[in-house]
Amino acid sequence: MITTKMKRHRWTIALLSTLLVSTVLLTGCKVGGQGQQEGQNLNAPATGNTSVEVTPDGTDDNTDGIETGEGDTETDSVMALRAQSSLQSSIQQEGDRSVVTNAEAVTVIVNKERSLPEGYEPDDLVEPNVPFSFDGPHEKRHLRKEAAAALEELFAAAEEDGIELRAVSGYRSYERQVSVYNSSVERNGEEYAARVSAKPGYSEHQTGLAIDVSSPSVGNVIEEVFGDSEEGKWLEEHAPEYGFVIRYLKDREDITGYVYEPWHIRYVGKELAPDIAESGLTLEEYFDEANIKL
Ligand SMILES: [Zn+2]
Repeated sequence: MITTKMKRHRWTIALLSTLLVSTVLLTGCKVGGQGQQEGQNLNAPATGNTSVEVTPDGTDDNTDGIETGEGDTETDSVMALRAQSSLQSSIQQEGDRSVVTNAEAVTVIVNKERSLPEGYEPDDLVEPNVPFSFDGPHEKRHLRKEAAAALEELFAAAEEDGIELRAVSGYRSYERQVSVYNSSVERNGEEYAARVSAKPGYSEHQTGLAIDVSSPSVGNVIEEVFGDSEEGKWLEEHAPEYGFVIRYLKDREDITGYVYEPWHIRYVGKELAPDIAESGLTLEEYFDEANIKL
């Protein structure tokens, strides 16, 4: 077992590393976001520690989040929630792939090194009643039920503040990710495509918990310019109140595997989102056991 003292020590090291990395990146040239950081830090460091964090009542990691109202998770501390969904306790090796074991949890972490189970499709996709940037039916109008309800609240709050948002792209099936990825490879070449789009099975959009959001003020584009707009700033400030976080933070490509995406918000639940945003950590760091103190 890891002692609290050791955890504190690791936490300190992690903090220092984060600061160091941030400093290096901030002082580095980031013109056009084309830095060449290696995206090798997506998984938890391989510690060889096979122990699994469990909730205080001994249940496994599949119990959290989405079914609020009936479990005892509502009363758990934020740290217990984090531990329950830690990177290390929610992954299993299948051949050469690392596959998440908590695909249905609102805290699931999917990235370039952590895939969804084969054929995963959420069973509670619905269409949120918010304005979209396009007309007509499409699967990308959908989100999982809890996330869709939260998005409606978020958009209503924006409207009250005179902020005009548009939903651009939510759920993306495995099949559609295949064509999105392939056309990105055709357009940009494999190396660049890997930096800006996910391979099928590895996209957060397939969880039904992520959605791209923009505004008519920038022509509804999903580009970095949205982050500098009044609407983008409003979104960054208020999304956590409704359970969403900006998933791909600025200058954290080395950790998340993706360039800054101020338009891509991810539902993680109202209990954790404000804490995550306040921490300034990426989801990969936030759910790393090295940073969780119980
Ligand atoms: Zn996105």
